[in-house]
Amino acid sequence: MRKITLSNGKTVEVECLSCALTSGLIEPDGGVIFETEHFHAHQDVAYPIEGLVILASKRHIKCLDELTDEERLDYINSMTAIRKAQREVLGIDYVYYFYNEDTTHHFHTWMVPRYDWMNEFGGSVESVRPVLLHARNHWNSEDNNQKVLKAIEALKKTLN
Ligand SMILES: [Zn+2]
Repeated sequence: MRKITLSNGKTVEVECLSCALTSGLIEPDGGVIFETEHFHAHQDVAYPIEGLVILASKRHIKCLDELTDEERLDYINSMTAIRKAQREVLGIDYVYYFYNEDTTHHFHTWMVPRYDWMNEFGGSVESVRPVLLHARNHWNSEDNNQKVLKAIEALKKTLN
């Protein structure tokens, strides 16, 4: 079991955060953004950045090569639909995609938007970790959470 601090400050103890989220045990802030037979998309629960979406498999697997043919197709189609919605409703020009297989939870891809304000944390991919930490440590205000929720609602409306 591991302890996870959610963006609302609450702490939960779970075996696998992705299982807890995709099964509905934990309701992410703003709810489910998009869901298919094999995948589940939600706002990152720890980093309150508008349009930061996590696309997680519903099956507890670790590696890309564990996806079935059907899951692979669902994965790329889901990611593409979310990417398109990020562009259309949030004006996001660029996205960073991350997934590491040596994770304590299961297969999930971070879709991290690039915003101009991130320039002060560095260019391109080097800014991502500092940006995430900054958001987690400084942006849990009511104001910012409202902005994040509004972005979630906009994505949901387009994707569903
Ligand atoms: Zn899992």
